[in-house]
Amino acid sequence: MRRLRNVKIVATLGPASNDYATIKALHETGADVFRLNMSHGDHDEIRERHRIIREIERELDSPIGILADLQGPKLRVGTFANPEEELVEGQSFRFDLNEAEGDATRVCLPHPEIFKALEADATLLVNDGKIKLRVVNHGADFADCVVVNGGAISNRKGVNVPDVLLPLAALSDKDRADLEFVCGLGVDWLALSFVQRAEDVEEARALVQGRAAVLSKIEKPSAVKSFEEILAVSDGIMVARGDLGVELPVQNVPPIQKRLVRRCRAAAKPVIVATQMLESMIESPMPTRAEVSDVATAIYEGADAVMLSAESAAGDYPIEAVQTMSNVAVEVEGDPTYREIIESSRVAKRESVADGIVAAAREIAETTDIKAICCFTQSGTTALLTARERPRVPIIAMTSLRGTARRLALSWGTNCIMTGEVTRFKQAVVNAARSARAAGFAGAEDQIVVTAGVPFNVPGTTNILRVAPCDESLIFASDPE
Ligand code: PGA
Ligand code: MN
Repeated sequence: MRRLRNVKIVATLGPASNDYATIKALHETGADVFRLNMSHGDHDEIRERHRIIREIERELDSPIGILADLQGPKLRVGTFANPEEELVEGQSFRFDLNEAEGDATRVCLPHPEIFKALEADATLLVNDGKIKLRVVNHGADFADCVVVNGGAISNRKGVNVPDVLLPLAALSDKDRADLEFVCGLGVDWLALSFVQRAEDVEEARALVQGRAAVLSKIEKPSAVKSFEEILAVSDGIMVARGDLGVELPVQNVPPIQKRLVRRCRAAAKPVIVATQMLESMIESPMPTRAEVSDVATAIYEGADAVMLSAESAAGDYPIEAVQTMSNVAVEVEGDPTYREIIESSRVAKRESVADGIVAAAREIAETTDIKAICCFTQSGTTALLTARERPRVPIIAMTSLRGTARRLALSWGTNCIMTGEVTRFKQAVVNAARSARAAGFAGAEDQIVVTAGVPFNVPGTTNILRVAPCDESLIFASDPE
């Protein structure tokens, strides 16, 4: 579906957006990729959402991306005898392996590996960081802590241990079962939560076996430290600001976001900025000024995509939230300052023929009134490299592989059009010209840039750049083969 903006919108599905009509409206309003969150919803619900997305995709004949997000090794306390206990600043509190119900002095933390890895003075955070404790004394099966910030603690609240590299399996048994399930359904992106090191990504990749592209969520200090290694083995990145802002001082999140977005663009890998983007729209049809500014900032920084979590999954105004993101995007991208920022942060990569060709395509599009850059791509790489250039004209990715088209739904400015198998360059140029016209990107009197690799269908061969008329009779008259 043709959009009037380049940044993509990811919408999480949930109870507020389970049905055909809502999912279709979300897509028509602007959601390019749907996120299936494996932390919520059973397999039957996930299967049904997946089926509806694919049905809409068939009807509209335009690729839609699906991102399945694995819960990952989230730590939780056990249960309490009372519904809730209040922890007060300065008091002692013990975590242990005793399965008996907790009280105001102790609770079970059923993760022996944490006790082994803990260090004195380490910080434990409970309930999205609301309660903060410092470890005073610890052994193989307990940790005695002093409460630094008090608050209410109750059954199965989440625990974060930001200072310690935990020897946790990257994937729990639930994650492994979910991974097989969603790969069986057929998803385009698989997101990994609480990645700590590159090996975590490689472990998941070995199980995915190419059935989906792999996206690492950066939400642990250890992931920030090992970011370059993680980026190298990931196909995409999410700046997962929710947990990141719990595990690190919250003011550290904006600089990290800026750096990660730039590094991903330089690596030509899509990056999503996520969480609390329009949080107040869970309950209100109007965003706050600060939220609008936050979405705009992510777009000015050059993010590939911005994401809605509870706003679209569980809020009262899912469609309005997507509409708001879309409106902000159109406004930002029309601002001359946006072009200045995007162009001054471009990194000139000159490592391959493809790098040179995509830069040249962008350059030509900037100096003439070319209407679009059409790139033939099978793996998607040439489209990703073209997106890295952030050209002023639309990018049309032409591919015969539906999986590639769906994955590229996450990438900045990429419009995907399915094409039959192409074997000759002239045929490719004709296809590109027809598609650009049919999709409304160009008229018969216009010109486009076409990039391709000959021979066709051999990955990594991008070696042709042609400025072509959109009028087929001119192509037939002028082109040799
Ligand atoms: P989550 O991840 O929504 O799965 O927690 C995103 C985040 O932590 O920001
Ligand atoms: Mn998270």
